[in-house]
Amino acid sequence: QRAEWAQLVNEPSVTADGHHVELAANIGNPSDVTGVLDNGGEGIGLYRTEFLYMGRDSFPTEDEQTEAYASVLKQMDGKPTVVRTLDIGGDKELSYLEMPKELNPFLGVRAIRLAFEREDLFRTQLRALLRASVHGNLKIMFPMIATLDEFRKAKALFEEERANLTAEGIEVKADIEVGIMVEIPSTAVMADTFAKEVDFFSIGTNDLIQYTLAADRMNERVSYLYQPYNPAVLRLVRNVIDAAHKEGKWAGMCGEMAGDEIAAPVLLGLGLDEFSMSASSILKIRSLLKDLSKADMEQHTETILNLATADEVEAYVKKLLGQ
Ligand code: PEP
Ligand code: MG
Repeated sequence: QRAEWAQLVNEPSVTADGHHVELAANIGNPSDVTGVLDNGGEGIGLYRTEFLYMGRDSFPTEDEQTEAYASVLKQMDGKPTVVRTLDIGGDKELSYLEMPKELNPFLGVRAIRLAFEREDLFRTQLRALLRASVHGNLKIMFPMIATLDEFRKAKALFEEERANLTAEGIEVKADIEVGIMVEIPSTAVMADTFAKEVDFFSIGTNDLIQYTLAADRMNERVSYLYQPYNPAVLRLVRNVIDAAHKEGKWAGMCGEMAGDEIAAPVLLGLGLDEFSMSASSILKIRSLLKDLSKADMEQHTETILNLATADEVEAYVKKLLGQ
C-alpha cells in the first residue's frame, strides 16, 4: 500500500470521473514544509502561526515573523499557502501573556477576540504577513469568526496596514485573498451572508464539532458526543460549501475530518474544493479519491444527510466503500 501511495507523490488529486480537488497540508512551523512537499501536498491549507509565539519568552517581532512567513512562501514556490492569524486562548496559552482566568476558556477570549483586545499584536502580524506576501501565493485567514462585524473589522485592519506599508514605500502583493475559518455554528448558518464578502471559507471541524454538539474537544468523558459524522455537522458543512459556490468562492476544510477516510467521500459528494490535513494523510486520501467518482458520491449525498445518527452515516459510507 505504501508503495502504491509513493507513486502518487507527483500526481494531481483527481477522482475516477476526472474531478480535481486540492489536497493540502496543515503545518505549525516553516520546517514542516519539507514534509508537505515530500508527501505531495498541493498547498498549505492551514499554517497555525501560534507556534511562532510559543516556546519563547516574548512576542516575535515584525521582522522575525516576516522571515518565518517568507520562508514558508518561498519553499511553497507559488503553491497556495493559507496562513491563519494568531489563535491563542482556549487551550493555548503564552507564558509571557497575562490572561485573566475564564470559566469557559473555549467560549472566551481566544483567536480573533484576543486579536481585537490586543490590536497592537494583530497589526504587527498583519504587517509581517503583508511584507512576506511578495514571496509567494499568500492567503490570509482569520480564526474563530462568529459574526460578520468581526470579519469586517479584521479586514479593515488588514486594509489599514496595507495602506500604511504602501505609504512607507514597502512593496505588497496586490491580490491577497482574505478568508475565514468556519468553526462556529453561527457562521456556518450565516455562510450565505459571509460568502458575499469573504474570498474563501476553510471549515475548522475540530472546533465546529465541539461547538455544534456542545462537547469539549479535550474532555474524554464527553468524547462520545464528539461526532464528525453527525448529520448536524454534515448539514452545516453542506451549507458552507453551497454558500461559497453560489458566490463563486471556494470552500476548504482544515479540521482533522478532511483527512478521514469515512468523511472524505462524503465531502467529495458535497463539493469540497480543498482538503487540508496532516501531511502524512495526503497520499492515503489521494489514493482513496482516485477510485471514487464524484458524480456517484453526489447521488448519495441527500440520503446521507437525511440519516438520523452518526453511526448510520458511518455504516452507510463503509458499505459504499465495500468495507
Ligand atoms: C479547527 O478548529 O478545526 C482547526 C483546524 O483549528 P485548531 O485545531 O487549530 O483549533
Ligand atoms: Mg479551531
